[in-house]
Amino acid sequence: MPRLQLSDASEIEFPMTKVAEFHSAWDAAEKDGDVERVLDTLADELAPSSPSTSPSSRPPLIAELRQTLRHLRPVSKEVFAERIKQCLDCEHSRQLAVGDDNRRRIVQCGQCGCVMNIKARMLSGACPLGKFK
Ligand code: SF4
Repeated sequence: MPRLQLSDASEIEFPMTKVAEFHSAWDAAEKDGDVERVLDTLADELAPSSPSTSPSSRPPLIAELRQTLRHLRPVSKEVFAERIKQCLDCEHSRQLAVGDDNRRRIVQCGQCGCVMNIKARMLSGACPLGKFK
């Protein structure tokens, strides 16, 4: 499960389902020019899960979360497709069958261990070997 690392070294869980929801919401909001609302909503949802949260620490925590989420926003579908193609052609990748019927395929990077179907969709999801930024 992805985790968001904060400046005080604490971490906040960022479940895969939330990542997927965030990317869908961002795609939709970009058309309306309303991405700030998406950031506000998700930062607010994630903030209470921090063990260090107190009434006074919450506003700066939310501000930091919003900044972190900006780096995790989705790239365009074209950039994502190009990144995944690079991974599929890469000697360090492997494809895993998942799901109850083993019919879904995910691409895992052998260098960082990340599931590239998720990571390559994030703006900050660069290749550890510099094959894409
Ligand atoms: S992220 Fe880079 S090293 Fe990893 S599988 Fe993709 S292209 Fe290869």
